[in-house]
Amino acid sequence: MLRACGIGDSLCRLHLRPTNEIALMPRDESTEPTPQPASPGASVRLIEVSRRWGAAAALERISIDVRPGSFTVLLGPSGCGKTTCLRIVAGLETASDGRVEIAGRDVTNLPPAARGVAMVFQSYALFPHLNVAENIVFGLRARHVPAPERARRLARAVDILGIGPLLARKPGQLSGGQQQRVALGRAIVAETPVCLMDEPLSNLDAQLRADMRREILALQRRLGITMLYVTHDQTEAMGMADQIVLLRDGHIEQDAPPVEVYARPATSFAASFIGTPPMNLFPLERRDSGMVMRGTGGPIFAPPSEGDLLGGIRPETLTLGEQGIPAVVSHAEYLGADTVLSCMAAGVNLLARLPGRVVLANGTPVRLATGEPIHVFDAASGRRIETSMATKEVVGA
Ligand code: ATP
Repeated sequence: MLRACGIGDSLCRLHLRPTNEIALMPRDESTEPTPQPASPGASVRLIEVSRRWGAAAALERISIDVRPGSFTVLLGPSGCGKTTCLRIVAGLETASDGRVEIAGRDVTNLPPAARGVAMVFQSYALFPHLNVAENIVFGLRARHVPAPERARRLARAVDILGIGPLLARKPGQLSGGQQQRVALGRAIVAETPVCLMDEPLSNLDAQLRADMRREILALQRRLGITMLYVTHDQTEAMGMADQIVLLRDGHIEQDAPPVEVYARPATSFAASFIGTPPMNLFPLERRDSGMVMRGTGGPIFAPPSEGDLLGGIRPETLTLGEQGIPAVVSHAEYLGADTVLSCMAAGVNLLARLPGRVVLANGTPVRLATGEPIHVFDAASGRRIETSMATKEVVGA
């Protein structure tokens, strides 16, 4: 069953339990600092933040600069530290080292309710015994926001989300998408300059996810708030983010706009994490005139170089031609608009994303060519290496 909760600037006091579970308690007005007023987006900064549990480090000296009013996505595989990072910003988790600033204010040691953030959880965290309207204003009521102000904020959220007909229903009478809207409603009525979302769409089916992605982005743009959004779904990150912070094992692999992460991945990990299908990576070896894919006679992909290097080619830049990497078709997957061709070349599986329907029997010999300079990475460190290879040099075999 989907459970309920939500934090706002001052909606409630949050009590952590040993698991990720969060329970809400009415806020103790006498001890909490005054919350920030509603305002457009505020900056969020993490400065050299680490989080360790014993010898295990979930985050190691992470620094992130989130611009006011931007949509920043924390992206990475399971266990890389995304949620820990978000919870440290929210104040639900304490950093072992480092500082957190919101709107230029050091909030490192402030409780969640004093930080001016709202949070939407993966589980939606709605109270099953309260109806939609009561769920949305629960936090406002807990902090004794006067009834006319509650009504104003509720009306605004209802208007933005289009959930007027649902107000009297209980969460059990709502679809997943409707529950998600109610969870968003709780964040909206908080009227905080920063909103944190932790995988808010992972319980929805593919079509609804796509719809809600657009809605959340439109909402963020309309309200002008700063959004920090956690996902492991690179498609979601590419489609929504102004800035992607790609995490791996508690470190930042790349912090850049989507177009840059795609076009100039900083590491081989970033190259392989972004893209559908992901970038082909293969070892290079030296010939007199330059670097070729190991085990092949060409084409030349990069100027001669020492050390172990990896080459990278995006599947969508590969074409079938007279020249190129010699390969043998091992599988063809027809996807409608295009076909993903799997080919074996010198012991490496290469994927080519080709437009339309491509019918080629397994075992067919082909040549895979690219008209673009390849990406080159240091094999040991994974770091990107810039090469001066021109396009015309790449095409020939
Ligand atoms: P997912 O996408 O699976 O939610 P994540 O990227 O959000 O993963 P985190 O939940 O931030 O990852 O966890 C990062 C690391 O910290 C993991 O190795 C996790 O096991 C560890 N970790 C998280 N919370 C605790 C805790 N309370 N005690 C010990 N280790 C923890």
